[in-house]
Amino acid sequence: MPLVDVKDLHVTFSTDRGEAKAINGIDLTLTEGETLAVVGESGSGKSVTALAILGLLPKRTATVQADALRFDGRDLMALSEEQFRRVRGKEIGIVFQDPMTSLNPVLTVGRQLSEIGEVHLGMTRATAQSHAADLLDQVGIPQPKARLRDYPHQFSGGMRQRVGIAMAIACKPKLLIADEPTTALDVTVQAQILELLAEVQSEMNMAIMLVTHDLGVVARTADRVQVMYAGRIVETGPAEAVFLRTGMPYTRALLRSVPRLDVADEGPLRPIQGSPPDVMRPSKGCSFAPRCDLVAARCHHEQPPLVSCGPGHRAACILVGKTP
Ligand code: ADP
Ligand code: MG
Repeated sequence: MPLVDVKDLHVTFSTDRGEAKAINGIDLTLTEGETLAVVGESGSGKSVTALAILGLLPKRTATVQADALRFDGRDLMALSEEQFRRVRGKEIGIVFQDPMTSLNPVLTVGRQLSEIGEVHLGMTRATAQSHAADLLDQVGIPQPKARLRDYPHQFSGGMRQRVGIAMAIACKPKLLIADEPTTALDVTVQAQILELLAEVQSEMNMAIMLVTHDLGVVARTADRVQVMYAGRIVETGPAEAVFLRTGMPYTRALLRSVPRLDVADEGPLRPIQGSPPDVMRPSKGCSFAPRCDLVAARCHHEQPPLVSCGPGHRAACILVGKTP
């Protein structure tokens, strides 16, 4: 049984401009200890997918429908607000792009970390404090005991993200959802944070859902990759297959548009032409058709289904299986 099991998820927002179909029927599974990267340009629905699993979508404007939305055998759609809060704090850790969103600027890092120990793990204050120091040590912060007394703003960007990760793993969650965890950081620090996530993961056998717009980030850490476009999965498969035997022109365009951490000589970067689709106006055919350099007439009329292009590898393109 997968740890996360999402089937045919739809999310619609009601807005001033009308209905925004943000997620249009996606499937997603994660098994224990696995890293799944969810990749796509800004606005493709990555964060909304993560928020749906976390039960953090705004109740008033978001409508969530799914054939399954399960975590560790439980139906997430059946949980009360209170039950969901416990799952989030304890069993699913969250890391955001900006750690300040999960850190309180007026409390010391030590206070915030030991509060988790006291509230979620039932530790005494003293035990929670030494647990907090252990956590800072685990995420590679030098002089952890002394740093417990510091406030979030006293840490550099990279160190602050380490604190964010310490908070997220404090309860040894089975799943860590990291939404653009390295986007705000410079390249060297990005690599260190990815390294740290991989380390923590192998120590704790935790599954990671790594959300990023940057395929370059994914190459060295992900087991599997799901590429999103206009609220749909357009390619999914083992990372190596997606990188080496790319099935979907959009994935290829994404790969050409970002610097890769894993390839020495990659040729010139090419931004993807055109603009991402408008969720207010869903297209009848393939949503990537207006920007695709291999587009055919029927692409504008038919929504291509995900079809197999290798073991565990599927892509949504009429060209799959045809030699280009
Ligand atoms: P990203 O892939 O960049 O994380 P998101 O998942 O945040 O993209 O957004 C997907 C789509 O849903 C976007 O078109 C966005 O404008 C829309 N959206 C996200 N949150 C809301 C909201 N609270 N209300 C209305 N539309 C939203
Ligand atoms: Mg996002």
